[in-house]
Amino acid sequence: MMQVEIAENVKGKLRKALKAAGGREIGGVMMGEQIAPGHFRVVDLSIDSQTGGEAHFVRDSDTHNEALNAFFHRTGHQYDRFNYLGEWHSHPRFSVTPSSQDVSSMIDLVEGERGIEFAVLLIVRLRWWRRLTLSCTLFCRNTNHSVVEVLESSS
Ligand SMILES: [Zn+2]
Repeated sequence: MMQVEIAENVKGKLRKALKAAGGREIGGVMMGEQIAPGHFRVVDLSIDSQTGGEAHFVRDSDTHNEALNAFFHRTGHQYDRFNYLGEWHSHPRFSVTPSSQDVSSMIDLVEGERGIEFAVLLIVRLRWWRRLTLSCTLFCRNTNHSVVEVLESSS
């Protein structure tokens, strides 16, 4: 099973953005560090606060591409270690379970022409006392999607 941890500073960034967004859905891309085969840490993410509805989260916008390019530059283009990990968005008003639209969008992403072999979908929701609830799902080309184990971050 794939394992993902979320760096503490990224959790802080998420909480702040979710609080500011209130009932609006927000999302973006996740940048990951591979710690061991099948074990990743989310080390940064982009935040698109313009996102409106469910259907828009699979982005292709310049903002996210710029964020990714800046990340590659910052990490010295070590793509084996630091790379695009997947997509994230919030479900401010309902459960963090992926919707059927979420699932089909992610399948389109990994089955598409962009050369993405796998992508993780993280869905987050801010609850009382700044507690984050989340779900994490792995989508791979030609394979059924599966649940990702989310570890408590050591960093
Ligand atoms: Zn969703």
